[in-house]
This record gives sequence, structure tokens and C-alpha cells, in this order.
Amino acid sequence: MPRICVIPGDGVGPEVIDACLDVLFVLDLNIQFEKDIVGIQEFKKSGSYMTTETLDSAQNADAILFGTLTTPSDPAYVSPLLLLRWNLELYANVRPVKCLNPEFCMVPLDIVIIRENTEGLYGAVEREIDDKIITERVISQKACKRIIDFAFNYAVENNRKQVSCIHKANVLRASDEMFRNMFYGVGVNFAFYNKIRSNDYYVDAAAMHLVLNPENFDMIVTLNLYGDILSDEAAGLVGGLGFAPSANIGENNFLFEPVHGSAPDIAGKGIANPTAAILSASMMLDHLGFGDKADLIRETLVDIYADKENWTVDVGGKCGTKEFTSRLIKEIENKQASL
Ligand code: ATP
Repeated sequence: MPRICVIPGDGVGPEVIDACLDVLFVLDLNIQFEKDIVGIQEFKKSGSYMTTETLDSAQNADAILFGTLTTPSDPAYVSPLLLLRWNLELYANVRPVKCLNPEFCMVPLDIVIIRENTEGLYGAVEREIDDKIITERVISQKACKRIIDFAFNYAVENNRKQVSCIHKANVLRASDEMFRNMFYGVGVNFAFYNKIRSNDYYVDAAAMHLVLNPENFDMIVTLNLYGDILSDEAAGLVGGLGFAPSANIGENNFLFEPVHGSAPDIAGKGIANPTAAILSASMMLDHLGFGDKADLIRETLVDIYADKENWTVDVGGKCGTKEFTSRLIKEIENKQASL
């Protein structure tokens, strides 16, 4: 039986993860869930941002279902999410962005952003020299090759037709040019054997085209910071962060989490949209071999968003987290009963 390490985290994390667990429960899956506590409250209590027991539990699980974290300005605190990404080498961040209802989408996006997850500026190594602060940005050949291979293989497995490389090689002529060159080196074979097109954009132009010409994109592969920013932009185009799921993939470990943060402005109010977390749980079900159940969740989400009465607060509706989740569950149960 697969074992899932569940880490709700801070802010809206526990609210949206509870919603996920309620939905997973009605699917009657043979899965074991184990909750682990990390986050700011635990740090205040014990001084530890992640115990070795939690790290072991995450490392040995078949998948990790992760909520959200608040990152305090205290320099003694290291984000447990970044620790997991580094320690478990979760190198590929997969962020599908899909419009569930044209009424709250600005553009009809259906794209997948693949973000390099281990390098770039996220090492946060900074040093001060005189009046300057120098920030390290590491881009290695190994990580570029690994993420580009991953993106093209994902395209083949998921029947995608085009991968776009997003970079800033006109300014960063060593690092980003290397990334672009490696992309076309790998892309040649995929174009030949799998008919997958490849092209590239500067990141600033890509940000504009996402809004004006979304049909230009099918899949994007990009470096860490560009991927972080573009995926929030893309989420904004399909209703906001409440609709953006993600998977963090490594060789042996797999973590699923909503793209959004802990949303302190709405935490505890019962109005967080759990859709991003539920879609992340669906990606987890795909990974665990329960693709039919994952499809059932996704289809039911589209169905219930078709009725404005079911809309969540972030898209102008009245449903809070619990109300929305119970409506979704009811519809899933109806569908299961009619199968
Ligand atoms: P972080 O630094 O962790 O990314 P943040 O505060 O910068 O945190 P988010 O927490 O992602 O970013 O929130 C950005 C905005 O999106 C906030 O206004 C928040 O309320 C809103 N938001 C985020 N998640 C949700 C959600 N699930 N439902 C509704 N609104 C959300």
C-alpha cells in the first residue's frame, strides 16, 4: 500500500490539505496517510524547522502531499520546502496551467511549465562587499541537461507537441546561452523521432506573449526564477493562484503542492480556494497509478465550476473552502454511483 507523507504547513496550508484529504477519502483508495508537522509554529516551539524524523518520513514515503509555508525574515530559519527540494533532489517542478472555465480566465491557456528546481538564485548565497551585495546564481550543465531531457520526455508521454525554452541569453551570454544551446541540442532528436517542435523566447517577450498570444505556447522549459514568475503570471490568466497545482519530481522522491504560498491575508477565514491543492493531489494520484481517479476529480472540477453557484470567493463566488469541498465531494459521489 503506498504511504503518503502529508505536510500541511502554515497559513492556508492546513485548510486546503484538509480539503484534499476529504476528497481523497471518498475515492476509497488503498493509500496510507501520515501527517508530519513542519512550519513556523513548530520552529517557534522547538527551534527546529525540520526534524530528521520528518525528513526521513518524507524521504521514505511514496509521495509527499505538501501544503504551504510562511517564510519569516529570521535568518536562522531555512524553508523546509527548499530543504526538501535540495535534500531529495526534486529537480523538476511541473506546473500545469489550465483554464477550468472561460468565464474567469483571461485567456484560454492549457500549458505546462517545467521549472528547474535546484539552482539559479534559490541557493540565496549573498555576500556584501563595500556598498555591493553579490548574489550567486549557479547554472550547471548537469542541471540544464536533466531538466531539458525531463521536459521533452514529459512532452512525449503527455502528447504535447511543442516545447519552448525561456531564457535571457541576450544579457546572460554564458549561463543562459548554454541553457539555450543545450535545449536545441536535445531538441533535435525529439523533433526527429517524436515530431516535437522546439523554439525559444527571451523571458520578457514570453511574459508578454503569454497574455497576447497564449496559443504560441504548449510547454515551457525554463530556469528557476523565470519559472517561478511565469507560472504565477500564467495562474493569474486562468483565475489566480487558487487554480495552480504543481509536482516536484526527483529520481526517487515526489512532492505535490499548490503553487501558491501560505496566503496570510486570508488564512483562518475559511475562504481559501482548495482547487490548486486538489489538482496537485490529482497529479499525485496520476503518479501513484490511480489515473482514472485523478481524471474523475479533474472532470468533476470542470463540471462544478460550470455552475456559478459553486464558485469560490477568489473568482467572485460565495463558496468557502468547506462548502466548495463538500459540493465537489457530493458530485464525485454521484458520478461514482452512476459508474
Ligand atoms: P509566498 O511568498 O509564500 O509565495 P505570498 O503571500 O507572496 O506568499 P501567496 O500566499 O501565494 O503569496 O498569495 C498571493 C495572493 O494570492 C494573496 O492575495 C492570496 O490571498 C492569494 N491566494 C493565494 N492562494 C490562494 C487560494 N488558495 N485561494 C484564494 N486566494 C489565494
